[in-house]
Amino acid sequence: MTKDEAREEIERLRDFLHYHNYRYYVLDNPEISDEEYDEAMRRLLELEKKFPDLVTPDSPSQRIGAPPLASFENFVHPYKMYSLGNALNRGEFSAFVQRVRQALGQEEIVWTAEHKFDGLAIELIYEKGILTKGVTRGNGEIGEVVTQNVRTIRNLPLKLLGEVPEEIVVYGEVVMHREDFLALNRQRQEEGLSLFANPRNAAAGSLRQLDSCVTAQRRLYFYAYGVRFVDDERILSHYDRMSYLYEHGFAICPHRIRTKDSGEVEAYHRYWESHREEIPYEIDGIVVKVDDVRFQQRLGYDAKTPKWAIAWKFKPAQAKAVLRKVELGVGKQGTITPVAVFDPIFLAGARVQRATLHNFDEVKRLDLHEGDTLLVERSGEVIPKVVGVVKEKRQPGAKPIVEPTHCPVCGTSLQRMKDQVDVFCPNPECPAIVKARLRHFVSRSAFDIEGLGEELLERFYEEGFVKGFGDIFRLKNQRERLLSLERMGEKLVDKLLANIEQRRKIPLDRFLYALGIDYVGQETAKSIAREFGTLERIQQATYEDFLRLYGVGEVVARSLAEFFASPRGQAIIRDLKEAGVDVEEAKKVSSEGGALMGQYVCVTGKHESYSREEIFRMIEAEGGIPQENVTKQTSLLLVGEAAGSKLAKAQKMGIPIMPLDEFVRKRKAEG
Ligand code: AMP
Ligand code: ZN
Repeated sequence: MTKDEAREEIERLRDFLHYHNYRYYVLDNPEISDEEYDEAMRRLLELEKKFPDLVTPDSPSQRIGAPPLASFENFVHPYKMYSLGNALNRGEFSAFVQRVRQALGQEEIVWTAEHKFDGLAIELIYEKGILTKGVTRGNGEIGEVVTQNVRTIRNLPLKLLGEVPEEIVVYGEVVMHREDFLALNRQRQEEGLSLFANPRNAAAGSLRQLDSCVTAQRRLYFYAYGVRFVDDERILSHYDRMSYLYEHGFAICPHRIRTKDSGEVEAYHRYWESHREEIPYEIDGIVVKVDDVRFQQRLGYDAKTPKWAIAWKFKPAQAKAVLRKVELGVGKQGTITPVAVFDPIFLAGARVQRATLHNFDEVKRLDLHEGDTLLVERSGEVIPKVVGVVKEKRQPGAKPIVEPTHCPVCGTSLQRMKDQVDVFCPNPECPAIVKARLRHFVSRSAFDIEGLGEELLERFYEEGFVKGFGDIFRLKNQRERLLSLERMGEKLVDKLLANIEQRRKIPLDRFLYALGIDYVGQETAKSIAREFGTLERIQQATYEDFLRLYGVGEVVARSLAEFFASPRGQAIIRDLKEAGVDVEEAKKVSSEGGALMGQYVCVTGKHESYSREEIFRMIEAEGGIPQENVTKQTSLLLVGEAAGSKLAKAQKMGIPIMPLDEFVRKRKAEG
């Protein structure tokens, strides 16, 4: 086959695949079978493999992912990406309607209402009809380039259908459908990976993958809700613009309305508040927009939000469930937490069968009885909680739930500190406490050992493989025995052992946090690491030394001093060292020179909470030299809110840029 022949066939296959992809994913009305589609894709991949220089960015083959990136590039949005103002109730919505009417001096307004997709905002740039860039919102002015990841989204056009202007910018939301979210979590549970809290987190986590092949496996969807026709404002109604996007290949809200009657908008809100479970994606409200684009322009923007649109949120999802039992969780400090267990219900897109009751004071307040009908609430990523009991439904003779007197796991008498609501098991060897500590030890902010989930850890504990922290790092000596366990294949075991090896070397602050010392969270661990620098110095520190640290009070200082002086604490550290854990020293930035040593750093725009002076001091702390103006010497421009002309200048000169809040965040994270 000649190259010209190949090119012709490739083009034919691409048009074929683009079209049928659209029929399948956007119109939900396929004309061909999955097999025919797969066959065409297979043929395309074959030809592209033979003629790699014929591969183009808009080829359907790009949907399977591209080589991984080292990091995401920053990109300045051609137009600022705004957030939305909120209305939490009908009154706030009416106030919005009044504001718009007054500002336009007009009673009759045409409104558009659509779903508020609960995912993450993305900007797509199409040049000559071809997707050339996908960018996250970031801080609204600068986002991260995630083009490769965006290309893997099945229902998003890589090439627009039909005639389109030179350049258009499309805004929309990347979401994960509920069904795919549940399947993903099920799969992760089996593999011992951490679970995503909700579809939005899953979508965000999937899109921000440096390896787009991972994104490709995640089944994301894109729904468009905004567009700018660069140099061409020919369609002047938002509703019509969305129809335009639909015709050219985008999925949009399938249930939008356009009306002059704000009462109809209210009915729309009411309807979807109670029917949200019927659509495949998650919504957390509706978005109401002034339909006429010229009116939108007249209304303009506040600092962060358009004045011509509002997100009218739904109330947190609530549902009834019948209490099956109250389980007692035991935390790493021995605290007993009552958890309500009930038959599964669907709440705001997640399957829920447990909800926290916090403590026994709360159980008393709820006057909880066996078999009670509970009111369970879940908003956003918050853990579901029991907010009430339907007393009328209580069975006659039901027994009240009472505070336990003994640890459900080891049987030790429970204790309660004066003035505290929590009861706790005081036995340091309590298996439940030991297991909770182990879970904390491998968790994401501590040693971060992927693949060693709760279930597996539990098995290792029960089988006697892992009784203490150090045992995790000795698992490699037990490879044969691990393989003899049920459902532990060679691949799984070797992957796990490799993950553990990767974490043998650990920064001091993470190490401290992982130890699970009472009251020592991530922030405290960081400030201790920064102050003392090495583990040895920390081990020698006294109560007074700890107390001197910023943010460390008496309780924390005592807990730290006691831990490092106690035989148990010393044994843990000795054991971890013997097991080959390598604790890195913490860098003291000021004396050794920081990440910006000798570099000129310029700043434009404002930060929410830090003054220019404070930012300059942060730059200096990293060894950098603050600058007021962009020059040839500038090696970095930090960009905040309301950035000025320096931004354009730096861009023209090709100077790297970074959002100011990212800079601040990173500094907080590192030091
Ligand atoms: P929030 O972040 O909760 O203040 O909501 C603002 C965000 O809602 C926007 O930045 C968009 O990402 C998102 N959004 C979801 N659906 C829509 C829609 N139909 N129109 C506009 N924005 C939407
Ligand atoms: Zn116990």
